Amino acid sequence: MSRYYWIREAREPRQTGHLDASHPWGLPGLSCPTCGVTWAGSASAFPSVDLTSLPERAAFEKAQPEPLDEFARRRELVRPLVPPGAQLLPGVEFGPLEGTASGSFGQFFLQSAWMPLIRREAWERLQSAGLRGLRAFPTRLRFRQKNPPELLELELTAQGNLHPDCFLPEFPTRCAHCDRLGARRPEIMILEAASLPDQCDLFRLADFETTLIGTERFMNTVRRLGLDGAECDALTVR
Ligand SMILES: [Zn+2]
Repeated sequence: MSRYYWIREAREPRQTGHLDASHPWGLPGLSCPTCGVTWAGSASAFPSVDLTSLPERAAFEKAQPEPLDEFARRRELVRPLVPPGAQLLPGVEFGPLEGTASGSFGQFFLQSAWMPLIRREAWERLQSAGLRGLRAFPTRLRFRQKNPPELLELELTAQGNLHPDCFLPEFPTRCAHCDRLGARRPEIMILEAASLPDQCDLFRLADFETTLIGTERFMNTVRRLGLDGAECDALTVR
């Protein structure tokens, strides 16, 4: 069976990178009358998705929560513009990352799961190594320093679930109305083998989008190329 790894920020003292940035558009949060929760559970961003062609684009610039009907209506407006099968949870963001950046950056910059970044030269080496299912797009970050790095944003799809065993003794329920999974991420994660993608070397976990998962091929490539900024911890798969 293939091995999978939890990919997290490996912050080195000499890396002082800091971002003050955001994506221009997003789906609103959702206010659900059934479970009584107002939530915006997405950590995903689609930097490739441009909403300027939507007549209602201004509605995607505001972040306040909406009732399910309105949330669902807006989600259908963007669905034709996003990659097929994309998980579009409340709070998902779109468009190129804009803002300011300062300090020094490793090859990966994973401080925020909402905006995983990679230097262009590292991205080109990953592509040459034949990693599957990864996409990266230009950012619009402004640096005050001289010779700034060129940072791209990784567009990672949400795929794969946790195995029910890691929620024992009681599997959490999903709200039938808004589909919210009422659970915290378990301390010990076990991936459900059958749910994992077979053509993608780096992705977000569908159940907890802040969690980035890499394949053994990803981990080996990152180590072989000596790319810094990312830490890989082996996960159990069942
Ligand atoms: Zn609900």
